[in-house]
Amino acid sequence: MQQIYLDNSATTGLCREAKEAMCEAMECFGNPSSLHSLGAHAARLLRDARASVGEALGERFLKDGQLIFTSCGTEANALALLGTAHAKERRTARTILTTDSEHPSVENNLRLLEREGFSVVRVSTRGGVLDMDTVRAHCNADLFMVSMMLVNNETGARYPVEEVFAAAKAANPSCVCHCDAVQGFLKVPMHIRTMGADLVTVSAHKIHGPKGVGALYVSERMLRERRLSPFLCGGGQEFGLRSGTENTVGIAGFAAAAKAGAATARTAMPHMAHLAAELVAGLAGNEIRVNRPPVAAPHIVNITLPHIKSETMLHFLSGKGISVSAGSACSSHAAGPSTVLLAFGLTPAEAASSIRISFCPENTEGDVKALLAALGEGVSSLVRTKH
Ligand code: PLP
Repeated sequence: MQQIYLDNSATTGLCREAKEAMCEAMECFGNPSSLHSLGAHAARLLRDARASVGEALGERFLKDGQLIFTSCGTEANALALLGTAHAKERRTARTILTTDSEHPSVENNLRLLEREGFSVVRVSTRGGVLDMDTVRAHCNADLFMVSMMLVNNETGARYPVEEVFAAAKAANPSCVCHCDAVQGFLKVPMHIRTMGADLVTVSAHKIHGPKGVGALYVSERMLRERRLSPFLCGGGQEFGLRSGTENTVGIAGFAAAAKAGAATARTAMPHMAHLAAELVAGLAGNEIRVNRPPVAAPHIVNITLPHIKSETMLHFLSGKGISVSAGSACSSHAAGPSTVLLAFGLTPAEAASSIRISFCPENTEGDVKALLAALGEGVSSLVRTKH
């Protein structure tokens, strides 16, 4: 059976460039911290990889400490939040501004900080629109940090992080601005300089790189003002901000994927937007509702089915070789409806009947046609539950 993979926000397939770079890096087994020639070879690999990921982020010439490789996006988010809150350089400001639809790797760390006495304000993202009035109301001298995702992983909403960071810094120049760009990196136009962020999280496996590698971009100001402390302490790798011998094979794959993705982003983005538009147009007039935010990334489309449980449709589509997801992959073990979809404005029953379709540049119009046909068949044949 032909397999159609439409769950690219959960993870993506490894691209050829990443595979080749990883095979090559496996031959270079030296420890980048070793002083002999094998170590120097591995250190060169690491330096080149940092430049490639930096360039894909829009910043080729990074100073030492400006790009920290981590074990995943989750770890980079934890380093950003806990590392800033626990930095030696203490501040009196105690408010952290975020949204009500962040990824658990942000939200759960913010809950820890709340227990430590920080006050966390979660701005509404109803309908996929960030409530800018609430943002402006909290932009004052007590603003310690802003942590806001670029693109929401379940709805595809693209939040105006540039505007928020500018307002935050205008009110308090020492406020630290963090962006979880895991779902936006190479999916929407983004430039680290114009974004105005001090910290930016990215992850390799969302851009056709390997799983288990992420990175945190750190602004020069953060380093100069010593605003970030490590939480993994040890041998002092990654400029003292993330100890542990670097995963050179994974990092080589990440860099190759970032380079390849950046080279094709200009054509890949409109292609995915075209597929999303075809899908939305194909759904018009039937009972399926599209939960499309007004400003959305091109690769994610969230839909609500008429009284059919997400899992029921997911298994039906899977039986036809089509992979989609019911919410985000990391919340698939969580009990209860998606908090992100509730924040979007769906009822619990609607949230439990919603699925996410997420594209990659390799998907085709044929994939969309096959999905539309299967959805149509599923809607007319599956047993419905009462909302
Ligand atoms: N942030 C967002 C928005 C995500 O979608 C994800 C993964 O789904 C992460 C962070 C975590 O990234 P990783 O899977 O590399 O830990």
